[in-house]
Amino acid sequence: MKLQLDGLKNINPRHLATLGVLCACLFWFIESAIDTFIFEQQRLYLENLLRPETTELWNRCQVVFLLMAITVLAMLMLHRQRKITRQLKKYKLALEDTIFERTSDLRLKNAMLENEIMNRLKIEAELLYIASIDPLTSIPNRRKFNEVLSYELQRGSRYQKGLSLILCDLDHFKRINDKHGHNIGDEVLREFARLVSAHIRKTDTFARWGGEEFALLLPETDLKTAFEMAEKLRLVIDEHQLPNAERFTASFGVTQFVEGDNEIKIISRADIALYKAKANGRNKVESKPKLQTNFKLSSVMG
Ligand code: GH3
Ligand code: MG
Ligand code: MG
Repeated sequence: MKLQLDGLKNINPRHLATLGVLCACLFWFIESAIDTFIFEQQRLYLENLLRPETTELWNRCQVVFLLMAITVLAMLMLHRQRKITRQLKKYKLALEDTIFERTSDLRLKNAMLENEIMNRLKIEAELLYIASIDPLTSIPNRRKFNEVLSYELQRGSRYQKGLSLILCDLDHFKRINDKHGHNIGDEVLREFARLVSAHIRKTDTFARWGGEEFALLLPETDLKTAFEMAEKLRLVIDEHQLPNAERFTASFGVTQFVEGDNEIKIISRADIALYKAKANGRNKVESKPKLQTNFKLSSVMG
């Protein structure tokens, strides 16, 4: 049925009517010919065609009526089919419109959401930066350093590859502030951070511990190497000249990770070493435990 309707779909109703009339006429002509040549040879073809016998006329009219009825039925079906197709098309267009509207709406909402996510990620990154970077020197702050220290202490105890900590403090920094003002003091702090950052490895963590104190964590580094590193930094600072201020120096306290260490223990050892460096006259490097007295800083300047 569907196939038949599909076939009918493309036929013009006028053609269908013409076809029905043609079929009826053709039947009339053929039937007249059959009558003339087979059943009623005594009558002429024209007589059979235009004035058939009453029974014959009745029979032919029945068939013609049947053919016309079939044609009208086909036309009705065609009409109905076309109406359904038109309605379907209308629904399809309406549906497409709705889908388009909804899709545009969704696209807009999606873009707004993406924008919102990007903004949040930006804010998150900014917050993370603020939470972990010291605004004056742009190096990690104490909070970030503590985070790295805990992680490295865990790694240090698991892999036993050595871990050293250096605490450093600018010498007589208060004098610089008092003599040149806080702005120059800030400049000195920034310069100190820049100088140290330029001389350490990427895997080291250098942070502002607070005020004019700094901390340097050196993974996979033993005490001797850390001491050499501190001495190298001490010399770099000592020899550096700032344009607007006198030379400044720093003292360093060095220690290394030992089994059973935690954050408090390792920091307090480095602090004791730093205190010793200050007590010994400043611009010094001291370690806890103390290194062998015959230890030479041969490789420091190399
Ligand atoms: P020492 O050699 O014993 O370390 O002496 P010091 O003067 O360096 O140490 P002290 O603790 O007496 O003074 C530290 C000074 O550092 C005091 C404080 O005003 C100053 N300071 C701390 N933070 C900042 C900062 O962010 N900027 C500036 N300009 N000064 C700071
Ligand atoms: Mg100081
Ligand atoms: Mg201090």
